[in-house]
Amino acid sequence: MTTSEGIILIDTIYPYNSEELIVGGMRKLGLDPNSIKYVFVSHAHADHIGGAEMLQKRYRARVVMGGPDWDLVAKHPNRYKTMAPKRDIVATDGVKITLGDATVTIWLTPGHTPGTMSYTFSVLDRGKRVNVAYSGGTAFNFVNNTPDPGIRNFQTYIDSQKHMAARAASTGATVLLSNHSEFDNAYNKNRMLAGRGFGPHPYEIGADWVQRYFQVMQGCAWAAQIRLEQKAAETR
Ligand SMILES: [Zn+2]
Repeated sequence: MTTSEGIILIDTIYPYNSEELIVGGMRKLGLDPNSIKYVFVSHAHADHIGGAEMLQKRYRARVVMGGPDWDLVAKHPNRYKTMAPKRDIVATDGVKITLGDATVTIWLTPGHTPGTMSYTFSVLDRGKRVNVAYSGGTAFNFVNNTPDPGIRNFQTYIDSQKHMAARAASTGATVLLSNHSEFDNAYNKNRMLAGRGFGPHPYEIGADWVQRYFQVMQGCAWAAQIRLEQKAAETR
């Protein structure tokens, strides 16, 4: 996100391609990586935290992450080799980070990882203010195949989806962003943008569809949770 005082970067992809895709990609867009002031890491998986150490060292960007995910990085030095930023800003639920004329509110949405962060913020589209809900962790890649702790893990995930759905509603979000392009159809939307003309921005799907995303996430998690409850009942 570009602001009047620099850039807020959300997620840093893998260690092996962050140089090419972040630094190279920004230069291609005419953006200076030196102006990255904040790096938000939605969660400590390699495809999101990969470039954070490099960006922190090279550009002295402040790195923001949820407390439990900072702990993961500290606990597993081998897993986070070359992608272990020094512990910096620990996000709390509802904290606002302002840079120049932009403010991002961070929401803690544990589930995908214990420290997963999501965001609400607003952007300008051709001078019109548009509110965005950004979901930081889609997919159930936690322990999900045994009733204990699977049932609990799914509950944490469901509670976080409800939390974020409420934040999206109260901020009037009409855009849903996911940190994986297969979940918000970003790949196609980016292509549609080129042919937009005077039409609406392809990312602007409306408040009802934003809510629908969180309902589907809850429904899928709930179905998986019920399966584990049945499994627990059968083995009892
Ligand atoms: Zn992940």
